[in-house]
Amino acid sequence: MKSIKRAVGFLGLCSALLLSACNGDDSPKQTEQSQVKLQPIVIQGALPVESERMASKLDNVSVEMIGEWKFWKGTYKGYPMIISKTRMGMSNSAAATALAIQRYQPIAIINQGTSGGHDPALNVFDIVLGKFTTNIGAFKTPKKPIGDGSNALEWNEAFDVLPDDEADPEPIAIRKFEADPELLIAAYKAKPNYSKGKVVEGTIGSADVWNNELDRIDLLRKTYGTSVEEMEAASVAQVAHQFNVPFIGIRILSNNITNNGAYNPATGEACQDYVLDVAEQFMKAKSEIK
Ligand code: SAH
Repeated sequence: MKSIKRAVGFLGLCSALLLSACNGDDSPKQTEQSQVKLQPIVIQGALPVESERMASKLDNVSVEMIGEWKFWKGTYKGYPMIISKTRMGMSNSAAATALAIQRYQPIAIINQGTSGGHDPALNVFDIVLGKFTTNIGAFKTPKKPIGDGSNALEWNEAFDVLPDDEADPEPIAIRKFEADPELLIAAYKAKPNYSKGKVVEGTIGSADVWNNELDRIDLLRKTYGTSVEEMEAASVAQVAHQFNVPFIGIRILSNNITNNGAYNPATGEACQDYVLDVAEQFMKAKSEIK
C-alpha cells in the first residue's frame, strides 16, 4: 500500500511541477488542483458536541455511515477533509480509526475533544497538544487472596498491549505514542489564534474509565506524566501507529476536579474551532511544493 501512496504522490508532484512550469512561475502556489491532490485529513470527535460543528463547516459535504460510525466527507478551505464521529471509548474509536484508514487512506489523523484535567495548573478551556498519548487503563494487578479486597492505588504495573515481542507473556511497560512532528508544528501555528485559554504541550491519558478519585488521579499523573484524561486518543494512536498514519491527539479541558474546574459543555465547540485551524495549517504546509 505504501508503494501505491508513493506512486500517487510522485504523479501529483510531477503534474504540479508541470503546472508551475506552464505558468512560468517556480514559486509554490496553492492552486485548487494542488489542494485536491492531497489525501484527506481525518478529524475525530467522540460525541455530536465534539464533531458536528466541524462537519457544519465543510463544503461539498456528503455523509457516509459504516455500521454505526458516521463520517462527513467534504472540503474545508479547499482541503479534503473527513470528520468522523467515533462514539465514546477505546473500542469505538479504534474501530472508527481502522475503518477511516481503510476507506479514505488519510494523510493524517487528529483525535480531539473534551477531557478532564490531571494537572492543577490547567483550567477549563485550556488545550493540551498531545506530544505523547498513552493508555492509562491497562494493568497487571498484584495478586491478593479472596477476602483481601482490591486497591487500585496498588496497581503499579502497566500492561503494554502492543509489545515488540508478542511472545512476551508479561509485557509490563508504559507505551507512549509520540505525536507526528508536522502535526505538532501545525498545532503550534494555530496557537496564536486561540484566545479562550492556554495551549500547552503534554501527555494525554486514555482509558474506558472516568476517574474521580483525587489520589488515583495524582498517582496516574506521577506514573504517566498525564496532563489530562479522556477515553479515546491512545486507542486511535495505537491503530494509526500500526498503519503508519501520522497522528496527534488534541484535547481541551471540559472539567478539572484537581482544581475545582466545573464542567463546561462549550469547550467541545472551542476545541473543534482550534483543531480545524490546525488541520488547515497542516494541509497548507503539505500542499506547498518544496
Ligand atoms: N459530555 C461530557 C462528558 C462526556 S462522557 C464532556 O463533554 O466532558 C465522556 C466523554 O468525554 C469521553 O468521550 C471522554 O473522551 C471525554 N471526557 C471528558 N472528560 C473526561 C474525564 N474527566 N474522564 C474521562 N473522559 C472524559
